[in-house]
Amino acid sequence: MIALHWFRRDLRLADNPALLAAVAAARQFIPLFVLDDALLGAAGRAPARIAFLLDALVALDRELAARGSRLLVLRGDPRRVLPEVCRRHGVALASWNRDVSPYAHRRDAAVAAQLRDAGIATHTGHEVTIVPPEALRTASGGPYTVFTPYLRAWQAWLVHHATAAMPAPAIPPLPPGMTADGPPRLADLGIPAAAAPIPPGGAAAALQRLAAFVAPGGALERYHERRDIPAESATSQLSPYLRFGCLAPAAAWRAAQAVGGAGAARWIAELAWRDFYAQILFCFPHVLRGAFRPIYDHIRWDDDDARFAAWCDGRTGFPIVDAAMRQLRAEAWMHNRCRMIVASFLTKDLLIDWRRGERWFMQHLLDGDPASNNGGWQWAAGTGTDAQPYFRIFNPTSQGQKFDPDGTYVRRYVPELRRVPARVIHEPWRLSPAEQQVVGCVIGRDYPAPVVDHARQRLVALERYRAVRGSALDASPDA
Ligand SMILES: Cc1cc2nc3c(=O)[nH]c(=O)nc-3n(C[C@H](O)[C@H](O)[C@H](O)COP(=O)(O)OP(=O)(O)OC[C@H]3O[C@@H](n4cnc5c(N)ncnc54)[C@H](O)[C@@H]3O)c2cc1C
Repeated sequence: MIALHWFRRDLRLADNPALLAAVAAARQFIPLFVLDDALLGAAGRAPARIAFLLDALVALDRELAARGSRLLVLRGDPRRVLPEVCRRHGVALASWNRDVSPYAHRRDAAVAAQLRDAGIATHTGHEVTIVPPEALRTASGGPYTVFTPYLRAWQAWLVHHATAAMPAPAIPPLPPGMTADGPPRLADLGIPAAAAPIPPGGAAAALQRLAAFVAPGGALERYHERRDIPAESATSQLSPYLRFGCLAPAAAWRAAQAVGGAGAARWIAELAWRDFYAQILFCFPHVLRGAFRPIYDHIRWDDDDARFAAWCDGRTGFPIVDAAMRQLRAEAWMHNRCRMIVASFLTKDLLIDWRRGERWFMQHLLDGDPASNNGGWQWAAGTGTDAQPYFRIFNPTSQGQKFDPDGTYVRRYVPELRRVPARVIHEPWRLSPAEQQVVGCVIGRDYPAPVVDHARQRLVALERYRAVRGSALDASPDA
């Protein structure tokens, strides 16, 4: 019997039950990846993310080659490619892991229907998340929309359903006469090289990074204390590996569980956030078009293009915002605390529609993921699953002072501010003109003056949100 596994966001051989189901039943086996034209050409495409994906495919191909097989990489619409490959090679069973986006739903349903019509059996797994997106239901039978009760249910589910580690299986050979050349290069796809350095893709690199993170003395131990300090390497930076499934999220969970302690507990909660946003997208696909709470689709945005450009380029005059936006350009990654700060700034200070920021992130992030990105943006914009979110407005100056007190992070990405003393690094406009001359940072010449007055914009934002809520203004203080 010939089986096929369609790799998508599970670019690994170990910890992949759907792959195992296919190879266990097969005498010959086709490992397939389809470079989907619809995704390669999408407006939200990031060259860095595609470069990382291609590297992960090269690594997967290498792993398969070591087992006497090769990865077949084809380009086109999977709705056409999958049934064609299956028919041509007489495939009897096709397997894949389900994804949560509405696009993936439609695509997979169309593929499955065609395979069924052709008499080809299918097997699906759910390895994109730790807990399947439809597994947890509230007492009233609906999906969870608030994180804390979701986390409790998620933890309880894992007590009974956690799976053991699964080594990479033996891979049956390709069907006789079939050849596969492995993945293309970025240039073959007509995509410009990424400006950011790309970390090595693939399962081996992911496991190495995970092992270093959870090792004694590794960052996991103090994760709960240091995770919010962007100048430090205090988080795992595993997000691109989880995005493409080079690392099974369940393997990440198991590794942290085995260590235990406060750092691990906090990190596991972040893995649960990832699952939470995946199930939000799965159950509420409208979030990709508009607010989770549709009332917030009526917020009046300013959408000032010059201010949007200043945000994208890291020229807002707010050091922590500018450092973070420049980190995104330089590394195709941004620290989580800074993602929250810049997203709050775009929506609540610049009054720009969160969807523009969401798209910019997708165009640049190595880990750009529709579910987590959308969830993060809606959280920051106050349009999402939080109970009372609209008045959470980050003050970019005090956030900088709190999480980058000596300005190490800011100085790393904003060289104009390198000589500004720590006491004013997050508000360099407070230096006198003479002091500005001395430190070589004249505001308005070497570094921009703030594009907005935060205190004023905060009130405008509250007013705009209040207008759509039609309720009294909450007097909560700045965050
Ligand atoms: C506006 C905004 C946009 C975001 N966009 C994305 C995105 O496109 N892709 C993405 O993977 N994450 C996104 N996040 C979540 C988070 O910022 C990143 O997952 C995290 O910074 C990745 O770094 P890390 O791997 O070192 O995380 P760690 O702190 O080591 O966390 C471990 C893993 O948990 C998951 N995780 C951590 N925090 C979150 C979170 N808040 N929401 C969902 N999952 C989380 C990630 O998979 C991460 O790799 C976004 C957050 C915000 C506020």
